[in-house]
Amino acid sequence: MAQSAVPSAQQSRPAPVRVPVREVVPWAVLAAVLGLVLIYFVGAEQGATSLFGGDWVHEFTHDGRHLLGFPCH
Ligand SMILES: [Zn+2]
Repeated sequence: MAQSAVPSAQQSRPAPVRVPVREVVPWAVLAAVLGLVLIYFVGAEQGATSLFGGDWVHEFTHDGRHLLGFPCH
């Protein structure tokens, strides 16, 4: 019997990669919290919603605020 030059689908198909959800969820929650904190500092850390005194956080994130389209001045 002659062998085919192209391997069959069963021979070349890699095994599926298992994604352990229980290990991924804590990192996804951490990334979401850090993202929300970052969005807060860029978008809402000014005026009445300011947590820190002075304008240093506002000035530090000022370019990002304009880049993301948050209202500023
Ligand atoms: Zn501005």
